[in-house]
Amino acid sequence: MKACMGKVLFVDLAAEAFAERRIPDDIYERYLGGVGLAVRILYDEIPAGADPLGPENVLGFMSGLLTGTGSVMTGRWMAVCKSPLTGGWGDANCGGSLSPAIKQTGYDGIFFKGLAPRPVVFVLDAKGPRLLDASALWGRDAVETEEILKKGHEGKKRPAVAAIGPAAEKLSLISGISNDGGRYAARSGVGAVMGSKRLKAVMLSGARLIPCADPVRVKAVSKHYADKVRRLHLPPRLSGGILPTFGRVLGFRVVVPVDGLILAAILKKWGTNYNNTAGAVNGDSPLLNWRGSLADFGRRHWRKLNPDRMLKREIRKYHCYSCVVGCGGISRMGGADGSGHSHKPEYETVAAFGGLLGHDSLETIYICNDICNRSGLDTISAGATIAFAIECFENGVLTKADTGGLELAWGDSRAILTLLKMMAAREGIGDILADGVRRAAERIGRGAEPYAVHVGGQEPAMHDSRMDPMMAVSYGTDPTPGRHTIASGSYYYPSHLWEFVPWAPRVVKPYPKSREYWASEEEALKSAAYVCFKQLTDAAGGCLFAMVNGLQHWRLFDWMNLATGWERPPVEYMESGRRIQTLRQLFNIKPGLDPRGFVSPGRMRGEPPLTRGPLAGRRVPLTAMISNYWKAMGWDAATGVPTPETLAALGLEAQGSARP
Ligand code: SF4
Repeated sequence: MKACMGKVLFVDLAAEAFAERRIPDDIYERYLGGVGLAVRILYDEIPAGADPLGPENVLGFMSGLLTGTGSVMTGRWMAVCKSPLTGGWGDANCGGSLSPAIKQTGYDGIFFKGLAPRPVVFVLDAKGPRLLDASALWGRDAVETEEILKKGHEGKKRPAVAAIGPAAEKLSLISGISNDGGRYAARSGVGAVMGSKRLKAVMLSGARLIPCADPVRVKAVSKHYADKVRRLHLPPRLSGGILPTFGRVLGFRVVVPVDGLILAAILKKWGTNYNNTAGAVNGDSPLLNWRGSLADFGRRHWRKLNPDRMLKREIRKYHCYSCVVGCGGISRMGGADGSGHSHKPEYETVAAFGGLLGHDSLETIYICNDICNRSGLDTISAGATIAFAIECFENGVLTKADTGGLELAWGDSRAILTLLKMMAAREGIGDILADGVRRAAERIGRGAEPYAVHVGGQEPAMHDSRMDPMMAVSYGTDPTPGRHTIASGSYYYPSHLWEFVPWAPRVVKPYPKSREYWASEEEALKSAAYVCFKQLTDAAGGCLFAMVNGLQHWRLFDWMNLATGWERPPVEYMESGRRIQTLRQLFNIKPGLDPRGFVSPGRMRGEPPLTRGPLAGRRVPLTAMISNYWKAMGWDAATGVPTPETLAALGLEAQGSARP
């Protein structure tokens, strides 16, 4: 079979042993690669009762099935494991340059089990796999660790490095894994798992050719898409002042037709930061720990987060491997001495350290971003945990006696920075907050729980589910709950999925946005269709932003056939997506996690509804919507457990015997 490397590598950190495992073709046919191959392997490898920070957990680094085949926007990798944050399936998706490097070493994935007796770096290059002592690197930040390792590598080819920072070493449950100087696999607590294994970094340098069944036609399809994207330019004089209007259009009560390719043009100019102001005015950005509205964080504040101000700091654009859009950017830090540069904060980071905290200092947000990138904290979860702490302080649940004299207040840059540094170092109250809001609320007690905004232990991303009910379903049902990259109404409409998959509901626009709030079978089918599409995209190594461009432009199904040599219709690939999602669900059910336990707090679903701002009065009938979604996935509508018929259809009978 082409496109894949046909095998994975297992590294036993305790025994310092390496073992290759061949993967039969039929496994690729059913699970593709990336997240699909990972969940197929880890379902069997990780015992139900495994401690996520213990030796039985297995941490994998997965490339995508299409990575390196000549297709574009398919160079993302995933960290996978049992999540210490949720106790269930954990994965975190990341760009950068690690994905092709994994395959160039000859493997589709590299898995680490056991605990190393001392800090180590795993190296795989022309000399073969080995573990090197990393005691001298332990305690160093993730960005400098990568620089040191790259400088010291003796091979001809510059290696790709993934590393953790001190927060992950200290087992912060909201820590991630860095590559390319601060691109993050941030979610699910994957950094803590790497820290628990004392695996400071992974350094890969290989030169294996990645096989492709029809490279000429793969490249022709790529060129077609890339040419379209290259020709796209917003008028040079167009300023970020237009973005609030754009945001209002997206938030209209009528959903209007938009070609998803427009997103590529916007990302080329502003990156994800276009949503700093667009999302603030239409209600997409949650404000003040999800309890506020535009009336509390008005024009005076969000104007300071205008992405044009960020462009002034940008030194150059940043592209992940095989990306023709380049939504990232390397920016001047512009600190006290104006020195240094780093990846610019993404929208999620700006929102988590901005409106969520009632805060508008871009200067401070850049510094918070750099602290997180270096220490390893997930910016979404870190911002959310600080929001929780401020609201606790406001309500007397936390006092200066708890914070070491630090006064916490909305919008206070000094307090935000100080608290973040304490979290990264696990000092004082920072030790309690470093494991996210659920653990912090449990440890603080005294009525802290209502301020802890999380789903199943994970802090939700910076997209308000009252604005997008499909996102609300996704937050409350994905095996990695609280994730914004699984499905949403704003992703579905531009995708044109229905032109390729007959069972995916056709969207005819314009239509009233109120329809999205109906707990209808059609809305549930849209959710299910996008979830299956997203899982197969994650198996391929694809980028979410390319998905949103639309399948008429970004031709994933064509690449899958041309790169592998298969001749499968899109509906078959969608069944692989359903199989992957169902097995992710079964991974959670195996140790006893009840899908009904992923309950979004009332704030996230409009109970009670906001009384002011663009989301005033909006309620999401989430229980009924989730039940419909489970049914659309072929899972029990009352429990979220896959039905025997679905398990038989997907060939998952053996895995489906467990019950929560
Ligand atoms: S669009 Fe952005 S996230 Fe996606 S591959 Fe390109 S640089 Fe990476």
